Amino acid sequence: MLNCSTLDSIFSTHFDAWGVARIEPIDEEIAHLRKWLENGYAGEMGYMHRNLHLRANPKELLPEAKSMIMVLMNYYPREWQPKDKPQIAAYAYGNDYHHIVKSKLTELAEEINKVAPHKYAVFCDSAPVLERYWAARAGLGWIGKNGMLVNPKLGTFTFIGTLITSLELEPSEVMENRCGTCRKCIDACPTGAILNNPLPLRGLPLKQGENINAQQHTLKNNLNYTIDARKCLSYQTIEKRGEVDNELIEVAGNTLYGCDRCQLACPWNRFAHPHKHPELEPIEGIFEIDWASMSRSEFNRKLKFSPMQRAGLKKIKARYMQIEN
Ligand code: SF4
Ligand code: SF4
Repeated sequence: MLNCSTLDSIFSTHFDAWGVARIEPIDEEIAHLRKWLENGYAGEMGYMHRNLHLRANPKELLPEAKSMIMVLMNYYPREWQPKDKPQIAAYAYGNDYHHIVKSKLTELAEEINKVAPHKYAVFCDSAPVLERYWAARAGLGWIGKNGMLVNPKLGTFTFIGTLITSLELEPSEVMENRCGTCRKCIDACPTGAILNNPLPLRGLPLKQGENINAQQHTLKNNLNYTIDARKCLSYQTIEKRGEVDNELIEVAGNTLYGCDRCQLACPWNRFAHPHKHPELEPIEGIFEIDWASMSRSEFNRKLKFSPMQRAGLKKIKARYMQIEN
């Protein structure tokens, strides 16, 4: 079996944290997701309804899979956008992280191959993998009341990458949920998108060796919170077709693309520190863009590799006009 120090020397070259989860059935987590979808919380994100069988079992993505190596890449910015500008979520300051994380993971998977030949697949938001869930199982933090992965050393501003491998690896120690009685993210959310609305028990892990019943498990892990994506400004400004709903315009303020409010409110981010990844630096001039006059060719040139391509210029401009009016 590959030992922890070998893996550490491989993964700490490119990532800020890593951990291992053993692949096991995750029926409770899928039941939770099904109920979330039935409640309509996914809004127009039809893709969330597809491929549930793949989400339920990573072996569907790689039949030989035995372990998931989950990695975190810190993207906490050195410099924040001025508050008076139309606000872009920090993850979208730089180039699209999906390719960055995946290419690093592929490089490291090949490194492992030299020591221990294996079959593998790498993902970063690119396949139906429940990434926050598996990251929590891999001991990289816990899922906070706002649905974000909270890592006690890095905070919440991290990208999650997944390496599924045929190697049988020692699973990492699972971390206890440390949200406690805190509700800062809930109070910071301007739209009330974080609901205290119990869904079926989530399949989040217990601490290793712990044996508590389902109700204690739910309470211990604050699992009776969920997000109604339809109310979330990230969904409204990125995923949803058309403009931000009329009833949310006032509370949305100058939110242009994505929203970081609940993350910024999280006290665990006091331990966050600016990232050290040059490839995650902001796109030059991104804070100064004049969205009203930006042409399609300029958008495609300047923001060619930006995650903002997901919403597209038309939607971003429409949102900008809402802010200005
Ligand atoms: S991202 Fe913004 S709108 Fe969405 S839950 Fe967090 S604070 Fe609320
Ligand atoms: S703000 Fe508080 S409740 Fe929300 S994720 Fe952070 S610690 Fe948990």
